[in-house]
Order: sequence, then structure tokens, then C-alpha cells
Amino acid sequence: MWFVRCVKQSELRTINMEKRKEEKAVEKIKMTTPLVEMDGDEMTRILWKMIKDELLLPYIDLKTEYYDLGLEYRNETNDQVTIDSAEATKKYGVAVKCATITPNAARMTEYNLKEMWKSPNGTIRAALDGTVFRAPILVKGIVPYVKNWTKPITIARHAYGDVYKNTEIKVPVAGKAELVFTAEDGTETRELIHNFKGSGILQGIHNTDESISSFARACFGYAIDTKQDLWFATKDTISKKYDHNFKDIFQEIYDAEYKDKFEELGIEYFYTLIDDAVARVIRSEGGFIWACKNYDGDVMSDMVATAYGDLSMMTSVLVSPSGVYEYEAAHGTVQRHYYKHLKGEETSTNSIATIFAWTGALRKRGELDGIDELVEFADKLEKACIKTVEDGKMTKSLSLISTCENPVILNSLEFIQAIRETLDTLLEK
Ligand code: NAP
Ligand code: MG
Repeated sequence: MWFVRCVKQSELRTINMEKRKEEKAVEKIKMTTPLVEMDGDEMTRILWKMIKDELLLPYIDLKTEYYDLGLEYRNETNDQVTIDSAEATKKYGVAVKCATITPNAARMTEYNLKEMWKSPNGTIRAALDGTVFRAPILVKGIVPYVKNWTKPITIARHAYGDVYKNTEIKVPVAGKAELVFTAEDGTETRELIHNFKGSGILQGIHNTDESISSFARACFGYAIDTKQDLWFATKDTISKKYDHNFKDIFQEIYDAEYKDKFEELGIEYFYTLIDDAVARVIRSEGGFIWACKNYDGDVMSDMVATAYGDLSMMTSVLVSPSGVYEYEAAHGTVQRHYYKHLKGEETSTNSIATIFAWTGALRKRGELDGIDELVEFADKLEKACIKTVEDGKMTKSLSLISTCENPVILNSLEFIQAIRETLDTLLEK
């Protein structure tokens, strides 16, 4: 193994030197509108630069409006940079984001922070009123635990309300619990919840028609965009007003705004009960979008991600109901690898999901601006990532779950360089 790897490294170096010489001669792909580029933290910030240097700048006349969302600069600008990056995303329509630290108590001291700044993803999601779609990247040799899942399942999670914005009471003694709504004009509506005979618990949850409608539009829009069926499920048989409201809003919006387009594309909107959906998802071959209420999405996204194999192979895109896109990897800043990197130790961090964030954004920019070469380049770069792994060259975490017999384990930079090698062969064709 060691011998194979040494040979590989020197080979890579020679090839890369050759490529650099040729670089000047290659005509780079031109862009017309900038991408909003949101840089981030720790190991993913290191990968970010490597990806740009090795896989993007040699091929594209990259146009970006750069925002540094690294924690130091967020702290320096009192988080204004995050807000500015979200506004720029609304203006240009497409962003690509590196993973960022969400501060906690430990980060307060580590970075000497003025405040425990909010999660940038939360801030951006709120500004764009967006829904997050997560999908696995499938490669041969990394087999999902559910054997019949041959296509990716994309999970869309409603990110507002329900149990995540609840009000709870621990009932200490016997008494009457009621649900009370007071309208602006003072009219009251009351419903008995329960006559407690002793101690117990109570929970109040809510959602808004506005948020549910935005979620529905983001889901229908993304289904059309990616030409996939959309599944949605709730427990409307039990929750006849609350969950039924979700079902009704989806159906009304579908009928009024999206039905014709779905039929034209030959895709389907399918509603069922959540327990039926779970059974069908397991039996399915994948290849659809599964829209989930907030709690279902929380639970099911972890189930689906784990079943497909690896967090470092999950992509994520935030889509607003008005059709604004922000692409990123689903994983975090890979802190443990970064600390190794700081100590001068070798890291083997998988950059594929971050590369796919770039390709997603470049493809979308290409589609919006009618630049076919950019779309084609994004397709080829994705193919290059998959082919490199399928050819047996991968990072350590992938080698642990791959069925490939003699994988060549590469470090973070070598892996990106191996992808570049594959990309060059694909571009020559
Ligand atoms: P993480 O960065 O996702 O990493 C957790 C572990 O998963 C790593 O230690 C590593 O395992 C493995 N892993 C994740 N991505 C990998 C990759 N690309 N290649 C190889 N292994 C990978 O989660 P975390 O360590 O809990 O969080 C670190 C920071 O990220 C936190 O400050 C958190 O706030 C932030 N975060 C940001 C986002 C975002 O911006 N979207 C999302 C989640 C978390 P081994 O150590 O076993 O190799
Ligand atoms: Mg969760």
C-alpha cells in the first residue's frame, strides 16, 4: 500500500507540473453574472482554497462576489457580513457556501468573540425564507444499507414551527387545560385540552399558512427544477386540523400553480400518510424528493443520510420560494481534521460534497445565463469526482465504507489533484 502511494504521489506531482505549463494556453470559460461566494471555517476553508486553485481557476474565468463568513470576520463585522451575503444572494440568485462554525461556549473563548453569533445558516435561511434540500452523492462501491436504493432520495425539511417553536408546561396538580385564541378584535375561541386529575404535561405548537405555503412552493419548484416526483406526508387522519392544513395548502398550491407543469414534465405529486410514506420509501428505488414536516425531516434526514453511507457525501441546497439558490455541503467544518492540519499532520478529508456545492452553483448560474460550457463543465467535474472514487482513489473515510478491494488512500490535496487528473481526461473527450 505504502509503495503504491509513493508512486502515486510523485506521478501526481509530475502531471500537475505539466498541466500548469499548459494552463496558459487553455481558453477559460467566461461567466457573465457573479456567484455569491461565502467562505467559511477550519478544514473546509482549507479545502475551499484547494478546490478553487486546482479545479476551478485553471478552467473558468471565475466571477464571484466574495464574502468572508469565517468566524473571525463575522466577529469583526458584528455578523453584518452574513446579512450582506444573504442580501447579495437575493440580488444575484445563486450562492455557494463553505461550512461555518456555529459558535458555542467553547468557541467564545477560542475565538475571543464579542457575542455568541447566530448560526450563519439560520440567518441566511431566515433572510431567504428558504427550504433545505439534502441529497446523497452515489458512487459504485459505496452501497446503501437499503440495497434497492439505487437512486438518491432528496429530503426537504420544513424549517419553521411545530415542536421547534413550542411552549410547554409541566402540570403539577389536577386542573383544566384549555387552548385559547384571542383575535385582534378580542373574540376568544376556546377548546378543552384535558381535565387533569393529577400531574402531567402540556405542549402548545403552531405554524403559519405563510410559512407552509413558502415550503410548498420551494418543494414544487425544486421538483420541476430537478424533474423528480415530489412526495409529501403528514398524519392528517389523526390531526384533522393541524396536519390537514398542511395537506390542503400543498394541494391548493399544486392545483393552482404547478399541476400543468408537472404533467408536462411527466412528474408526479404524491400525498400519503407519514407511516405509509416510510414503508414506501424503504421499498422504493429512490429518485424522488421527500418533503417532510419539521420533526419528520429532522429524524428522516439522519436516517436517510446514514443509510446512504457517509455524511461527507451529502449535498445541501437552500431554495427560496422565489427561486434563489444557495449550495453547500451537508457536513460541518471538520474541526478534528483541522486541528491535525494545524499540528502539521497529514489529513485525508473528503472534499466531494464541497466540490458538488460549487458544481451545483456553477450549473445553476450557467442555466440562468445560458452558458452551456459552464453547465457542461459542472457535469464533467461531478463525473470526475465519482470516477476517481470508482477507480479506487479516495480519502480515508470513504475507504472504510467502500467495497473497493485495494483502495489508494490519498491525503486531502492528493485527492483533489487526482480528481483534476480525471477531469482533464474527461475534458479532452
Ligand atoms: P463535522 O464537521 O460534520 O464533522 C464530524 C465528523 O464527521 C468529523 O470529525 C469526521 O469524522 C466526519 N466528517 C465530516 N465531514 C467529513 C469530510 N468531508 N471528510 C472526512 N470526514 C468528515 O461536524 P462537527 O465536528 O460536529 O462540527 C464542526 C463545526 O462545524 C462546528 O463548529 C459546527 O458548528 C459546524 N457545522 C457547520 C455546518 C454548516 O456550516 N452547514 C453544519 C454542521 C456543523 P472523523 O473525525 O472520525 O474523521
Ligand atoms: Mg437532527
